[in-house]
Amino acid sequence: MRRVGLVASGEDFVDRAECSRHEMVLERDGGQSAAMTRNRFAGEPFMDDDDAIAKALEEVSVPALMCSLVHMTGDLSFIRGEIQPRIAMSLDIQSGMSNDDRAEMRRRALPVIAAYRDSGCEPVALSTETLQEMMGFLGRRHVDGRLAGLFFDDLQFEGGDVGAIAWGNDVTDERRFSTPVVVIGCGMGGILAGIRLSQAGLPFTIIEKNGGPGGTWWENRYPGARVDVGSHQYCFSFEPAEHWSEYYCRQPELRKYFDTIVDRYGLRPHCRFDTTVTEATWDEDQALWQLALQRSDGEQDRLEARFVISAVGSLNLPRMPEIEGMDSFAGPSFHSSRWPGDLDVGGTRFALVGAGASGFQIGPALAPEVDRLTIFQRTAQWIIPNPLYHAAVPPGDEWALRHLPFYGRWFRFIMTFAGIAMGIEPYRIDPTHDDPTHRSINAANAKRAEALLASMQSLVAERPDLVDKIVPDYPATGKRILQDDGTWLRCLQRPNVEIVRTAIERIVPDGVVTTEGTHYPADVICYATGFRHNEFLGSLRVTGRRGISLRDQWGDEPSAYLGITVPNFPNLFCVYGPGTNLAAGASLFYHAEFQVHYALEAIRETLMSEARWCEVLPRAHQEYVSRYQAEIGQLVWSHPSIEHSHYKNRQGKVFTLSPWPLDLYWEWTRRVEREDYAFG
Ligand SMILES: Cc1cc2nc3c(=O)[nH]c(=O)nc-3n(C[C@H](O)[C@H](O)[C@H](O)COP(=O)(O)OP(=O)(O)OC[C@H]3O[C@@H](n4cnc5c(N)ncnc54)[C@H](O)[C@@H]3O)c2cc1C
Repeated sequence: MRRVGLVASGEDFVDRAECSRHEMVLERDGGQSAAMTRNRFAGEPFMDDDDAIAKALEEVSVPALMCSLVHMTGDLSFIRGEIQPRIAMSLDIQSGMSNDDRAEMRRRALPVIAAYRDSGCEPVALSTETLQEMMGFLGRRHVDGRLAGLFFDDLQFEGGDVGAIAWGNDVTDERRFSTPVVVIGCGMGGILAGIRLSQAGLPFTIIEKNGGPGGTWWENRYPGARVDVGSHQYCFSFEPAEHWSEYYCRQPELRKYFDTIVDRYGLRPHCRFDTTVTEATWDEDQALWQLALQRSDGEQDRLEARFVISAVGSLNLPRMPEIEGMDSFAGPSFHSSRWPGDLDVGGTRFALVGAGASGFQIGPALAPEVDRLTIFQRTAQWIIPNPLYHAAVPPGDEWALRHLPFYGRWFRFIMTFAGIAMGIEPYRIDPTHDDPTHRSINAANAKRAEALLASMQSLVAERPDLVDKIVPDYPATGKRILQDDGTWLRCLQRPNVEIVRTAIERIVPDGVVTTEGTHYPADVICYATGFRHNEFLGSLRVTGRRGISLRDQWGDEPSAYLGITVPNFPNLFCVYGPGTNLAAGASLFYHAEFQVHYALEAIRETLMSEARWCEVLPRAHQEYVSRYQAEIGQLVWSHPSIEHSHYKNRQGKVFTLSPWPLDLYWEWTRRVEREDYAFG
């Protein structure tokens, strides 16, 4: 294996000759990569005139543009000059650059882009070292080791899908054809598993309880549903979507994205929609999973699989509250993820129970439509200002994403890097930190809480009565932090909107009654009360070796090795399994790509060993769980002052979230360590 100058620190990243993804990174070897000139990330050639280009440049991310200029010319002075990004922050696509600096850079860019156009839109091949320097330029720090490895994997400057399965002759055709795999769920994770299984040449079926693909984005159709991480990172690394119409796009667009991917990769013939897997039972003699299926028309069926990939999601089981009288309500009432398609809210008195991540999106979308909106909120939320949260991608930026070489790649980098590079330290509880308000867990967190409070309070300056209602009483970032451009706090100030922080005592046929005895009339109730996050794989009964039930084994403390494999449950892989939700860092697409890669590696190892099954050893699992618990217990999400959090189980412990820096988890999931598994 060649060792290259990519990694200055000599970390593990260079030692993994076995891993095909890394080899593709290493192949770049400080030289000129032909593939990097004209590929799908290099942008579509264009003939726009100078005026049109100048107009477009008014709306671009200037730091991403500067990197694109290097691709056009090979001239590093664009990123080595006096004009530099001032901060690396995913919410600021201009990286804190002043207006003057941006104007100057646009002025310099115009003739360069015109010359690039006139010479046929052929980018210059750049070396690995140059690309790494560009990462450092945008990231405002030296980027090396596994952090660089992760981003080279993610950005794929060669234009190829470096995660594509290329087993070559590792596994014979005969072995492949006799290895059926079932994927449960056709959301983001299941679709990805389907793509990889198809590349591996294994026969596979995707079973999905809904009528189509998309999972979360098939189900959550409530008004205002949108992502809260940037669209340009909420997509597969190998299927970027330069076409997003908004920086944080809405549900219909996401659903369409998944539909398109399913067709592009020919997955639809492998999908069985409207079908629920009700049971999965390990058949010891045959070393197969026996699956019981229930179709929505009532018909039952069975299916056998050598391997099962669970992609059932972990925010997929609605959590309904238990409030006296809920059944007595006379009007429509439903969970936010079951929004009735034919519901006309016009002129209604609407009760919204819950104002977490979903309620926070529903409220502002409904307020202009309804006669009266009453929002019942148990816990106030921390809100981070984000001017782009409801912003459309303007035509100029869309043009740049489509045409300027690798601009979209660097745009994705800007949106992702800071969150990932920050790692997990900002979330660590400092036991010596003393904050009687319980709003912070360490000194830096206290500063952050102060800044967030100031920004929230400034938005309700004219409504001092609201301040007490919107100020959280737990540490900043301790629950999913919400992003906003002021829409939520403006919504609360509308004359037809009221926020109620008093607990609900009961539901009556015509409304909601609080513990203070106030009756709030309502024609419709939406319970935006979240999901049964801790009940992993809760939609089916899973039985492993010796009749062991997964539900019993896990109880209230679900765990899996790397969040993926579980002792006593051979040949079962979880995507978005226990301990893998992300409350910080990046979109869950990153995790899904790592986990599916790992699952396919384990399948390859098993088939290459002429084995029928693989199972994680209790020792490896236990060691991982101990490390997990030691780490998560020190982080903000476990803080005892946080009472109501879907991240916690009934005993207040966290088994849902990942405590690992993303690049560390990326490294751990690169390959399967044979000594952690039994094969048979
Ligand atoms: C409202 C909302 C907003 C979100 N916003 C973000 C965001 O901004 N950024 C982010 O990173 N994440 C976000 N998430 C998390 C989101 O769930 C993940 O990003 C991602 O969609 C998970 O994909 P998945 O395929 O793992 O799970 P899901 O999308 O939940 O898909 C699971 C699929 O499995 C199917 N299924 C379940 N059980 C069975 C069974 N027994 N038989 C057959 N089929 C079954 C379900 O019907 C579903 O289609 C959000 C979640 C919600 C609910």
